[in-house]
Amino acid sequence: MSRHALISGASIAGPALAHQLHARGWRTTVVERAPRLRDEGQNIDIRGAGRQVARLMGIEDAVRAGGTGEVGLKMVREDGFAFATFPAGDNDTDGPTAELEILRGELSRVLYERTRDHTDYRFGEQIRDLTDHGDHVTADLASGDRVDADLVVVAEGTHSRTRDLVIPGARLDELGLYIAYLTIPQLPDDDRWWRWYHGPGSLGVSLRPDNLGTTRAMLSFLSDVRGLETLSRADQVTILRRTFADVGWQAPRVLEALDDAPMYFDAIAQVRLDRWSRGRGVLLGDAAWAAGPFGTGTSLGLTGAYVLAGELDATSDHRTALERYEQRMRPFVDRAQTVRPSVIRAMNPTSSLGVTLHRAAFRTAAEVSKRLGVLVNAIARPPSDAIDLPSYPEPVAA
Ligand SMILES: Cc1cc2nc3c(=O)[nH]c(=O)nc-3n(C[C@H](O)[C@H](O)[C@H](O)COP(=O)(O)OP(=O)(O)OC[C@H]3O[C@@H](n4cnc5c(N)ncnc54)[C@H](O)[C@@H]3O)c2cc1C
Repeated sequence: MSRHALISGASIAGPALAHQLHARGWRTTVVERAPRLRDEGQNIDIRGAGRQVARLMGIEDAVRAGGTGEVGLKMVREDGFAFATFPAGDNDTDGPTAELEILRGELSRVLYERTRDHTDYRFGEQIRDLTDHGDHVTADLASGDRVDADLVVVAEGTHSRTRDLVIPGARLDELGLYIAYLTIPQLPDDDRWWRWYHGPGSLGVSLRPDNLGTTRAMLSFLSDVRGLETLSRADQVTILRRTFADVGWQAPRVLEALDDAPMYFDAIAQVRLDRWSRGRGVLLGDAAWAAGPFGTGTSLGLTGAYVLAGELDATSDHRTALERYEQRMRPFVDRAQTVRPSVIRAMNPTSSLGVTLHRAAFRTAAEVSKRLGVLVNAIARPPSDAIDLPSYPEPVAA
């Protein structure tokens, strides 16, 4: 009889794992707390090992076809003047805009559509309790249903609640950075460039093109107050309005769209755990190892799903498989988590002098990039290819 995995979280890591496990003969059930697939968020990059995995999963073409067409990053002043320009890279490590980029919601949809026919997706559902019987695990769901499985995988993102049922006491290093991702109406002046403005007070506003006829906006700020991500949407909107009230450039336009805009509001944090599995429970993606705001989360989530499925396929002993999964992924995650809070502060200057220095640094980086034709990692992104991707026997394409 085929083995059964119950996966919690239907964003990137969860559906990617369902895809890989099905290809290896598993039965899969995915529960997602939201009532439907979530399409908020903006462009995410797929680089390094994540890109290799996308190729191995057979979704690279779909990702490319779903690209937003972003042509690069322009750092702008209040008046919109671009003081530093970084054209999109033509390989997967070059530049702030990767060659393979897609809206997070679109990648989630690609993965969902490739798994929906053989995966039991349950939206508006979540795990309330887990009982590990040794030879199987039982999940009590919020709806009152019970599900028996060989393995429970928690892929619920940084602020996962079920994580504690598998490994209690995860350390969340809050970086003090809040980001609101918004989908707002497109205006005729919106072009194919990602435009990013930083003003004093650590306030950032960015606009990015999408391929769905809207524009993806981002408002970011540093705060010593913790827990804003747990507030109601109305309270978060009030905070954003107050925080960005005096900000120039396109901030007024974004604030005007706030009431109707689909929004994802997050407190950026790094998740730190000594281990990612216990018994028949395992953590995957941001729930296990969120690394911060530099766009490595999706590549890590895809890679983790691939490695976890490959190791589970290689042996019928889940303990050995989960140990190997941790050993393979740990160096990759350690590298991704090297970004320190000081870098976040430098990226989000609070004083006018800080803004001046920030602009000078980006101008120099853009100039050097242009002159030498080499990558200058202006946004201090950790490397995305720090893992030698293990090779597993080819699964049957799902
Ligand atoms: C709506 C949304 C928008 C995002 N936008 C961006 C972005 O613009 N840029 C960026 O770099 N990263 C963004 N991210 C984060 C990015 O998706 C991840 O860093 C990365 O892709 C790894 O994904 P993940 O699947 O591990 O976790 P996540 O993408 O965080 O997904 C976790 C999923 O689990 C679900 N969930 C949470 N709790 C429960 C529960 N108790 N029971 C069941 N399901 C639960 C969530 O609704 C979500 O669908 C976004 C995440 C989300 C959820």
